[in-house]
Amino acid sequence: MAIATASASRIPIADYVTGIPAGDRALLARAITLVESTNPEHGRLAQAVLQELLPKTGNAVRLGMTGVPGVGKSTTIDQLGMNLIADGHLVAVLAIDPTSKRTGGSILGDKTRMSSLAQEKNAFIRPSPSSGTLGGVTKRTRETMALVEAAGFDVVIVETVGVGQSEVAVADMVDFFLVLLLSGGGDDLQGIKKGIIELADMIAINKADGDNIKRAERAAADYKAALQIFTPAGATWFPPVVTVSGLDNRGLKELWAKVLEHRNKMTATGEFQSRRQAQAVSWMRDMLENRLMAALKANPQIAAELPGIEASVRDGTLLPTLAVERIMAMMKLQ
Ligand code: GDP
Repeated sequence: MAIATASASRIPIADYVTGIPAGDRALLARAITLVESTNPEHGRLAQAVLQELLPKTGNAVRLGMTGVPGVGKSTTIDQLGMNLIADGHLVAVLAIDPTSKRTGGSILGDKTRMSSLAQEKNAFIRPSPSSGTLGGVTKRTRETMALVEAAGFDVVIVETVGVGQSEVAVADMVDFFLVLLLSGGGDDLQGIKKGIIELADMIAINKADGDNIKRAERAAADYKAALQIFTPAGATWFPPVVTVSGLDNRGLKELWAKVLEHRNKMTATGEFQSRRQAQAVSWMRDMLENRLMAALKANPQIAAELPGIEASVRDGTLLPTLAVERIMAMMKLQ
């Protein structure tokens, strides 16, 4: 990794700017390495490349997908991706998982989990960065999304598991947020996390195959009823609930048709554009927060005094508000 990053930083910006849109995958991978690097100089180079490539970004269908481990995300993405490639699309798969470790186990976006796509020249799979805060991982995924779009990928799938705020982070960077669920035994709605229904643009009950089809359809009816409660009357989009089988490639064509229908409807009302605009501002705010926190942690005076300040807050001799005032003064922010 260190060697790849070192050589990535020696490539002139102009080479990235012409090579990535021309389809040079090696340069794309190197640019992503720069985006993922923690070295500030690499960060600056990555920003310069991104700024130049900005006019070539934004053209992909951005699809987010979430679901618990085992629900069938990789099987579904593998199959859906193959369908899309057969229709002439270029498909990139990215992942957000702040808990992922490169050692053992299946990690999101792992190529071995998507064995057909992994062999396709029209697919690009990038696992979640193996460490970092959610904010850091989110920033890198957004920037990687811009790079793959500039490289001509017209479908970007961002997958995540339901860890903490990662679903909110993904919903905040995609056009369409798909929640994969399984049919449970009895009361299916028990299985759904609070808040997820509000984020979903569609729910797909997976593994609707074999003798599970009837159960999946019953679950779909339950979720439909639940969504009815959450969707405001008169909304442009009413999140559909479908049943699919990633394994048998059942329902995936219809699923994609819904994604496109959503795009058309939201484009017609202007909501597509305003969602993208709001996401750009939200990207900026997230980054600003990250930078401010990083600057705070890097400030030597704060680093020296923070343990003492926290001790005083802990033993009740310093009011939290006053502690914040002192830290802000050290940052010269007031
Ligand atoms: P992930 O952890 O969400 O990525 O789930 P995987 O795609 O790895 O799938 C977990 C397990 O469920 C694997 O054994 C798959 O073969 C199986 N599986 C995935 N999709 C389906 C499906 O549509 N039907 C059935 N019957 N099994 C599936």
